Parts: sequence; structure tokens; C-alpha cells
Amino acid sequence: MSTPFLSVRDLRVHFSTEDGTVKAVDGLSFEVEKGRTLGIVGESGSGKSVTNLAVLGLHDREHTAIDGEILLEGQDLLTATERQLERLRGNKMAMIFQDALASLSPYHTIGRQISETYRKHTGASRKEARDRAVEMLKRVGIPQPDLRVDDYPHQFSGGMRQRAMIAIALVCDPELLIADEPTTALDVTVQAQILDLLKDLQQETGTSIIFITHDLGVIADVADDVLVMYGGRCVERGTKAEVLTEPQHPYTWGLLRSMPRLGSRVDIPLSPIPGTPPSLLNPPTGCCFHPRCAFTDQVSGARCPTERPALELADGRGAACHLTDGQRTEFAADLAGSRPH
Ligand code: SF4
Repeated sequence: MSTPFLSVRDLRVHFSTEDGTVKAVDGLSFEVEKGRTLGIVGESGSGKSVTNLAVLGLHDREHTAIDGEILLEGQDLLTATERQLERLRGNKMAMIFQDALASLSPYHTIGRQISETYRKHTGASRKEARDRAVEMLKRVGIPQPDLRVDDYPHQFSGGMRQRAMIAIALVCDPELLIADEPTTALDVTVQAQILDLLKDLQQETGTSIIFITHDLGVIADVADDVLVMYGGRCVERGTKAEVLTEPQHPYTWGLLRSMPRLGSRVDIPLSPIPGTPPSLLNPPTGCCFHPRCAFTDQVSGARCPTERPALELADGRGAACHLTDGQRTEFAADLAGSRPH
């Protein structure tokens, strides 16, 4: 088997606060293969974004204890210097954030923001960098790029700003792109256009993508592989087809039941997962999901509140749950029958 482009091993990201230690990520492992998209899905506070800030070395170093390994083509990013990371960000890896308006400087033209990133990492001349900015705006589908390159962010629509962010992220041809809820603030039509754009660009460039979202519908559209996060841990992993058609974890079942499908019958209501995500300051004992799980009484020996289930993977597939394989197959079949369709 080939070495994965990115390999994260037993990552722990803990913050110290006045109230105690927040275990934002607590023993997470995953890989991203070259040219593939890993979708990381979970509710707010599940540790998705913190994981990816750690990959980029953008976490708050003063208040963060970080442990484990993050290997990018074999280089451990956790032992890299700030200078090495700075070089890697842009050249090898880049990020698109949810809020383009907050991420773009209102004081500089779109073109300048693209070209400055390019110059910083390549040493290109101003003229070369401007030409590159126009080329990138064209590539991400901005009409009249040679004119719009001199616009300020407020002169762009929300969808165009997100395209401009993608242009900045891709201007140095990074091999890993981390997209953190990049379409959440956009309406459905623009969201679909941005997702199509990312897929087209990936086909062109072979970039690996980590796509962070709370929305399994987006995962269904963009991901090759899926990691479901809950309470700072991975609770289920597999290919997109495995996770969406044969989900194995009660939390994933909950996410699927709360997700509308195209053409859903309106008389079958969606069922949101009851309760709220766990406190990462005082996480529940045993299985972190047990206070919200409807299946605890199906597990013999009352193990859910006391024993943390291990994530046992076979060929990259598995779920962290005490239910037996037979129970999971049975309950997943019931779920398929009761989902809106
Ligand atoms: Fe639910 Fe228990 Fe499985 Fe956790 S281990 S998901 S509480 S059944």
C-alpha cells in the first residue's frame, strides 16, 4: 500500500482554560491519499476545525498542548519550525475558511491579495503576480477577470468572494487543500456551484482535499472517504459509499435521520438528534455519545456509560460502538426503512 500524503496519528489537542483542560481532539488518527477528498463531518464543537488548524500549525501555541504525529509526505509537522510551516502553508497546503468576508482584507483589492500570496511564496515580479491573479480569477469562474482583479471584496457577491478565496488558496498549486465549511454561508444554488468548482479544480490539479462540514448532504456530493467526529474523537470511518449506505454508528444514524433528501416525502418528519454535543471540559464517561444514544439498553453489561469503545478498523472501515455487528446491521436496516424517502 502506498504511503498516504497526509497521515495523522493519535492526535491530541488540549487547551488550558481557567475552568480546566478542554480536550478538543482526543486521540484522532486518519490518512488522506493523494488526489482524494476526505470529508470530516460532525456537529459544532466536535473537534473538526481544531484538527485542521493543528495540521496547518495555526493553533494557539501558548495555550495549546498538542501531541501525536502529523506527517505530510513523511515530514512531522508537529516538530517543524514556524518558518518551515510558513513555507509549507501556501506551497504545499492551504485553507479556505467559511467566512470569506472576514478572511479577505477590506483594504486591498482582490487582485492584490492573490498576487501578494503568490509573490510571497514564489518571488515572482509584480507583473507576473498580477497576470497570475487574473489567470486564477478566470480559473475560478469570475467573469471579466482582467477588470474584476481591481475590485475590493465588498464589490464582489458572497459567491464571488468565496471563489476569490479559492483563488488565493490555490494560487501556489498546493497539494493539500483544507476547506472548512466553505459553503455554509451561501445559498443552495451558489453552494452547488462552489462544490462543482472544487471538484473540477481537483480533477485538474490532483490536489488532496480535507472537507470539513456538519452537512452529510455536502459529504455525499464531494467526499471519497468519510470520518465522523464526535466529542473530539472519530466514531466512524469508511468510504463515502460505506458510511452513507451502511452506516454503523448510532451518531451517524442520527445525522442521517436529521438530513432531508431530495424528493423526501413531507409526511415523514425529520428527527434531530436529541440533546446537545458533549462538554469537552467534562466529557461523559465511557462512550461520549451515551447521554444522547437510543441504543444503550441494547448493549449487554451496561457498558456504554463506563467503557470507552475502541475504534477497530478493517481496511479503513469501522465504528467505535459496543453494539455487535449483527445488531448494527439490524438497526441500520430499520433506519433505512424509516428515513424520509
Ligand atoms: Fe450508543 Fe453505546 Fe454504541 Fe455509544 S457504545 S454509540 S452509547 S450503543
